[in-house]
Amino acid sequence: MTLLYNNEEHPVRVLLDPGSSIPVISFHKARVWKLPIIKRPRIRTIMGFNSAVDTIGGRYYTEAVVLRHQEDHYTRLNFELSTMDDQCDIILPHWWLQQHEPAYFFDKTQEIKFASDYCQKNCTSTLVLGLPPTEAIASIQNKVDAAIAAVPEKFREFLPIMSEEAAIRMPDHQPWDHKIDLKKGETPPHGPSLR
Ligand SMILES: [Zn+2]
Repeated sequence: MTLLYNNEEHPVRVLLDPGSSIPVISFHKARVWKLPIIKRPRIRTIMGFNSAVDTIGGRYYTEAVVLRHQEDHYTRLNFELSTMDDQCDIILPHWWLQQHEPAYFFDKTQEIKFASDYCQKNCTSTLVLGLPPTEAIASIQNKVDAAIAAVPEKFREFLPIMSEEAAIRMPDHQPWDHKIDLKKGETPPHGPSLR
């Protein structure tokens, strides 16, 4: 499968594990690929295969990232971070398998396929996941890059505090926006609008 994040694609070795209860990703790979990692305020206890407490797991998890199988199956998941052996990067748990019902799961001679009713309805593209298609993400990134490139030299030191969103659009109107009251019968002078 392929992990999609931030316009990058990373081939991943996935273990479909009916004995597992949470999606897990390799701590090492998540850091190498710079996935968005969130630290838990309180550590959650996670058991490994041999019921030993996982000392790394339970501290961090990822924001939702997209996992693609071949070119037509997309799923979006938060992953628990844990140390993994070299054989696999991601573990998908029993409830994920029940939901997506991969065909040929027990048939080692055939390649796994995702063709269940659930998958046809929910997993065919990033659009059905409620995300823009990857080309749209790339075009937004280009706009952001262009907006950042247009920031004058003297303001460049503030770039890290300008969010991507702020770089491409004005903030939404808010109740605390100031209203300008005009005098009766007057019209505002013509001038350039704020952009
Ligand atoms: Zn599916």
